[in-house]
Amino acid sequence: MHQTQQHYRACNLCEAICGLEITTKNREIISIRGDKKDPLSKGYICAKALALKDLYEDPDRLTQPRIRKGSDWHTIDWDSAIQLTVERLLQVRAEYGSHSVAVYQGNPTVHNLGMMTHGREFFQSLGTRNHYSATSVDQLPQQLVALWMYGHQLLLPVPDLDRTQLLILIGHNPIVSNGSLMTAPNIRNRIQQLQQRGGELVVIDPRFTETAALAQTHLAPTPGSDFYLLAAIVRQLLIYQPEPPTKLNDLVEGYEKLMHLFAPFHLELASRKTGIPVSSIQQLVTDILHAEHAVVHGRLGISTHQQGTLCHWACQLINLISGNFDAQGGALFAQPAIDLTHITPGQFATECARVDQLPNFCGEFPVSCLQTEIATPGQDQIRALVLSAGNPVLTTPAGKDLAAAIKSLEFCVAIDFYQNESSGLAHLILPPTMALERDHYDLIFHHFSVRNSTRWNQALWSRQAHQRHDWEIFNALNETYHKNLPSNHTLLPDPSVLIDMGLRTSSLQPDSELAELSLASLKCQPHGVDLGPLRSSAKTKLKTKSGKIQCAPERLIQAIQGLKHTDTETAEDTGYKLISRRDSRSNNSWGHNFARLTKGRSRFYACLHPDDMLQLDVNDEQLIQISSTTGEITLPVRADNKLLRGVVSVPFGWGHHHAQSRTQQANQVGGQSINDLTDPKRYDAVSGVAALTGTPVKIHKAH
Ligand code: SF4
Repeated sequence: MHQTQQHYRACNLCEAICGLEITTKNREIISIRGDKKDPLSKGYICAKALALKDLYEDPDRLTQPRIRKGSDWHTIDWDSAIQLTVERLLQVRAEYGSHSVAVYQGNPTVHNLGMMTHGREFFQSLGTRNHYSATSVDQLPQQLVALWMYGHQLLLPVPDLDRTQLLILIGHNPIVSNGSLMTAPNIRNRIQQLQQRGGELVVIDPRFTETAALAQTHLAPTPGSDFYLLAAIVRQLLIYQPEPPTKLNDLVEGYEKLMHLFAPFHLELASRKTGIPVSSIQQLVTDILHAEHAVVHGRLGISTHQQGTLCHWACQLINLISGNFDAQGGALFAQPAIDLTHITPGQFATECARVDQLPNFCGEFPVSCLQTEIATPGQDQIRALVLSAGNPVLTTPAGKDLAAAIKSLEFCVAIDFYQNESSGLAHLILPPTMALERDHYDLIFHHFSVRNSTRWNQALWSRQAHQRHDWEIFNALNETYHKNLPSNHTLLPDPSVLIDMGLRTSSLQPDSELAELSLASLKCQPHGVDLGPLRSSAKTKLKTKSGKIQCAPERLIQAIQGLKHTDTETAEDTGYKLISRRDSRSNNSWGHNFARLTKGRSRFYACLHPDDMLQLDVNDEQLIQISSTTGEITLPVRADNKLLRGVVSVPFGWGHHHAQSRTQQANQVGGQSINDLTDPKRYDAVSGVAALTGTPVKIHKAH
């Protein structure tokens, strides 16, 4: 007779990495609860954690390789699938050269250990320069600023959320996302605690978001105008703080250039561009100056933006000038047990994309170039694609065009346990085990955590004979690939061996709770280990050549000086602007196949200000047609009197109605993809990252 068992591990669905207590019986998940002993989440979980059970039980989840013949799919054994994948990749490479094979890695990559360790190894073996990932429709500008200012793409200061007195969030809705580049489980409770200790939350977002609803102050700038607001704050702070804060005096370079660079960005210009009164901006500056501890944290809304890199530079400068960088209650670097800032810092613009000429970052071109690189004939045209844990047809600009391009490829293989709108276009799908079936150590999000901690996450049970872990798939591909090449290759060991090595060589000093850092010691601490609050560490962590913070990196100087900050209206300033929104029960494009998360009243509708609806002669639930230079979608509309006039919001990650997808619940919910409207030709001039925020659109009543 089988006994119930308790397992402890972290949820890997989002950046909050909440501790879970999972009860199982004979490979059946009985319950999922929050792990009260987890040092970071202390028992908190959100509704999505329960979906891990749904994911495990989902009949649509693939567990064996599938091959497509025409529109029919068949199961195939692992050896044949691996052999066929390698043969086809090598054929394409032999005929067209190594750059004709491309790789796209989706957002789940960073949430899965084997993809981080072994995926990277295989993709590098392919020898192609055509790497793409979800980074370039997300946080790339933040990483670029970190690289230029602090010397490493992962040196991203984290808000010291539990000790700050003034938290300013811009383009960030953590009540829905559960925090991003700010690992902070139970963010609602942390915000309440901030307010109970007399602190203040300010939210800057064109939409009255779920987080704005908790804030004492909500400022709603016109979409795309954020840099003018941030730059005006920098300018005003510099008036009060013309010299670097004393404690940073020996740690900064280029501070003296800032006053001149930001001089044109006065309060009146910011007010005209953003629609926010001068008095409100000035009040915010005063609040930052007077707060005992303050921190600004910007996220997606200002990353996927035509001035995304400039926006994130300004955020860093606000923290720095106000004396809140590397300070308790301000913005501090986390101290992960395995610190990836000791390895390759990253590079920018070592090459440009063949067709669109956009720069690469850390060996990746912006994903908005992928479609043109496939569709444009010429030397190094992409002919084969490895899609790893991603659904770019729904999550990257001009998704329909990308789908057509993927269909035209000579070969496409997907490493994914769902046959979705993108992997359904592949010739082969190699499905890895799902999260609970494999070991996990979070290599990324301990770098962005509001409190230092570490934990090993043991698989619930061994995989079944017909399954493969992601790292096993990559090792098999690598082994077969190299058998066909003259080069020798040594395969990586099991990821747990790599984690043990990383822990044993950690520079972190173990404390009394943990005699030593090793895999064995973490296995004895199934709830994870608290490594204490964030600490001042910039002096030892900075990786710039001079060891100092670069306040005015050369490329940002060029960008700010090249900015046209006239008051003249451009074509983009007129008409409607499109912004995206997310739902707390949605997880990018996936997680939509679970009835638990998609049941109830439809969440797929556009929002408009009531006056705009009046002007368009539409009522709640009537259909509107939204069109852009890229495409058009039709969907129901609802009034939102907290939205700015001229702004339309549409949920992100939907549109599961493609013939090739085999996700029954998601297909039933359907919806439309916002990325049928976004334009790959709109991008951040500095980083090349797609400007998904503020796409100009036209709206009509649908007939
Ligand atoms: S907040 Fe994120 S990590 Fe925590 S339970 Fe929800 S989905 Fe999982």
